[in-house]
Amino acid sequence: MSKPRVLVLSLGGTITMVPSDSGGITPRLGAAELVAAVPQLGEVAEIDARSPLRLPSPSLPAAAIVDVAGEIARAFASGFDGAVVVQGTDTIEESAFLLDALIDSDKPVVVTGAMRGADAPGADGPANLLSAVIVATSAQARGLGTLVVLNYDIHAARFVQKSHTALPSAFLSPLAGPLGAVIERRPRFYVRVNRMPALPVSGGPPEPVLLARIAMGADGRLLGALPGLGYAGVVIEGMGAGHVPADMVPALAELAEKVPVVLASRAMTGPVFTETYGYPGGEIDLIKRGLIPSGFLSGLKSRLLLGLALRSGGGRSAAVKAFEPYQ
Ligand code: ASP
Repeated sequence: MSKPRVLVLSLGGTITMVPSDSGGITPRLGAAELVAAVPQLGEVAEIDARSPLRLPSPSLPAAAIVDVAGEIARAFASGFDGAVVVQGTDTIEESAFLLDALIDSDKPVVVTGAMRGADAPGADGPANLLSAVIVATSAQARGLGTLVVLNYDIHAARFVQKSHTALPSAFLSPLAGPLGAVIERRPRFYVRVNRMPALPVSGGPPEPVLLARIAMGADGRLLGALPGLGYAGVVIEGMGAGHVPADMVPALAELAEKVPVVLASRAMTGPVFTETYGYPGGEIDLIKRGLIPSGFLSGLKSRLLLGLALRSGGGRSAAVKAFEPYQ
């Protein structure tokens, strides 16, 4: 019987890093070397290994992930059964969310990486790559949207967050938990989610959106300058269920008249409220003044969704529509 065909696209990250002459580890390995280091992959899938980039993930532009989404869409159209994207863990929660928002297919798309360098004792890259390919070939992984697989855990892109700087168990889905785990080389799904509606890949990279985290005593004096700096939208990471200091409200209201402003929370997780707190700077006040609640999306993910929604020039109504499924 022929094996499933899986596209493995490597973009860099710690999983590809080995010591460099200039000190420290840097991204040097490509997808073919990563795949060759895990002979068990040959038992699972027929792999096409490609290395479009070799970057540390803090330097990955969102535009590159939109290109990756296009490459995966073409691969699916030409008969591939699943896709694995390998990249740095620092921005996995963002890349995976972008792919989730852009890929219009039930075929599995899995993002993975590693917390330890390729030549570190106990390197986690090989096990993570094997788990990712196993999930990418699984019929049960179809229709769940983009998944993130590390440390045997299977997370939905919409929930996953990097929650530690060092541990192989750094990835958590604090709102809903992981969907399942890879155990005895088989994905076990305990929870299922629906695929979210896809936005067009052909629309290009997200528009520039600023993410602003609101701290005690913040006064918002920078907010008025943002549209002039070229920001098409702003995401506010408010306190708790979506709150800001009262002093900041006039500047925020003025900003929301110029560009779409989304209200997320700086809390680790949980939805933004819409109908509880009635004080100035509370969520009822801010929503009345035009801010769009992010639902359960984190500030990082909200920033990308707003940037994608604003590509077509649809303005505030396109933004409201894009956030509806996440409320
Ligand atoms: N620490 C990162 C990683 O785990 C580096 C990066 O994101 O590229 O891959």
